[in-house]
Amino acid sequence: MELPSIPVGTPEPGLYIVATPIGNLGDITLRALAMLQGAALIACEDTRVTGKLLNHFGIKARLQRLDDHASPQTRTRIIDEARHSAVVLVSDAGTPLISDPGYRLVREARAAGVMVTSIPGACAAISALAMAGLPSDRFLFAGFLPVKDKARRETLEGLAQVAATLVFYETAPRLERSLRAIAELWPTREVAVARELTKLHEECRSGTAASLADHYAAHPPKGEIVLLIGPPDESEAPALDADAMLRAALAEAGPGKAAGIVAKATGIDRAALYTRALELRGE
Ligand code: SAM
Repeated sequence: MELPSIPVGTPEPGLYIVATPIGNLGDITLRALAMLQGAALIACEDTRVTGKLLNHFGIKARLQRLDDHASPQTRTRIIDEARHSAVVLVSDAGTPLISDPGYRLVREARAAGVMVTSIPGACAAISALAMAGLPSDRFLFAGFLPVKDKARRETLEGLAQVAATLVFYETAPRLERSLRAIAELWPTREVAVARELTKLHEECRSGTAASLADHYAAHPPKGEIVLLIGPPDESEAPALDADAMLRAALAEAGPGKAAGIVAKATGIDRAALYTRALELRGE
């Protein structure tokens, strides 16, 4: 493919964090191409994956593997090189450091006084958030959910009160189990599955976690997935408020009276509040 004619010049020394496409190669940016072409060294997660990308754009470059297992010496060598020439960091796809290697390298480069900058571009989490139709004013990106059921549940429970859309990376074989876990915790929240973004079979499907789990049980998904969970809805709020109110009432009164006070204030069933008050007192 012929490169677009943009003035390149020799880039300044430093570490350039360069985003690459997450599927559709047309999403490479002009600045990314200029940097990949002008870099003295490209640090990458997998030299074969990045080699293919460079081949596609007719770029020849020196590659250095930098994955999560890179030694401190490898990072030091890369940082030393970035003191006097332009070094690019890419991952296999999307934005480096976002569930991808690079954090230590960037931290150490900054500490060493090396110029560090980011050339933005594709990121699956951001694309999914932009198209899912869930609140986007506040979101929390939490990487991959744990694989084991107990750990996954604990992670989700830990995020229960976050008043923001939750964004996770997920794999196709684990999607249904994750959706079932979400359905158990939050049966009414709106959930979205964004799959194969920017590719031929792109889809974004939303609904309750249970309805999505049923859909994907019947149509096993393929490819790459972002899983999004809407913020707590109104049906979850009273339970949280009731706990806080019960705790406050329990500071002044016994469980029976506390349950009565909160029942009157909220309209929640007194017997249920009494049971909860006993639990809270035992905590
Ligand atoms: N750094 C990348 C980014 O900026 O999106 C993410 C790297 S992470 C190792 C890979 C995960 O990102 C995949 O397992 C999937 O959850 C998500 N992902 C990457 N490309 C995707 C795509 N085209 N559609 C949906 N999800 C994608």
